[in-house]
Amino acid sequence: MILEVKNISKSYTNVKALDDVSFSIDEGEYVAIIGPNGSGKTTLLQILTGLFLPDSGEVNIFNLKLKKNLTSILANIGVVFQQPTLDGELSIHSNLKFHSQLHGMNKAKANLRIAELIEKFELKEHVNKQAKNLSGGLKRRLEIARSILHNPKILILDEATSGLDPESRKNILTYIKDLNKDQKLTIISITHLKDETKDVHKVLELKKGKLIKN
Ligand code: ADP
Ligand code: MG
Repeated sequence: MILEVKNISKSYTNVKALDDVSFSIDEGEYVAIIGPNGSGKTTLLQILTGLFLPDSGEVNIFNLKLKKNLTSILANIGVVFQQPTLDGELSIHSNLKFHSQLHGMNKAKANLRIAELIEKFELKEHVNKQAKNLSGGLKRRLEIARSILHNPKILILDEATSGLDPESRKNILTYIKDLNKDQKLTIISITHLKDETKDVHKVLELKKGKLIKN
């Protein structure tokens, strides 16, 4: 088991966003978390990444309590947020470089990794373009490349294909699936699109903050 959520609840002023949610994920699994808008998916992501504390319950990742080991756990997690977080003024290359510096990666190692990811995500011909001038699909590819720059063990994506045309969506899903298959990366993919849950190992369905047993 690589991640364990135990009896998590979280309320905002007048909504119970998560209501006694429990589940676990094994190393190497590709898990989809699905649910309609407002079902608590993003709140769950914010708790899994330590941005919010739950009102009750606990999260263990890599067999460590998230609350007490936030920094070391986050060093091994990659996140693609629902809202784009690229620096639009920076080039593809600079966005990646900046992120490697945030993670305190050694320069030579970072350069090698950046070159590898530019290759893998087919970003080469765009590498000097400013992020703001990239298509939606390319932006997403860059965000995914950036999220795994520091070689995380778990990748969490929130609506990674939202706003993309069908072809770019398929393309992004293929990249994600390959990361799981080839690199054995544990994937948690949050989506409101049911057709994005085929081929995954496990589907967790949220409805009004509750996990529905399938
Ligand atoms: P999803 O990602 O599945 O759309 P969210 O986790 O964003 O769901 O939201 C779950 C519920 O919590 C919704 O009813 C939403 O309106 C509410 N909510 C989310 N964030 C906040 C917030 N910062 N303040 C108040 N209510 C919130
Ligand atoms: Mg959301």
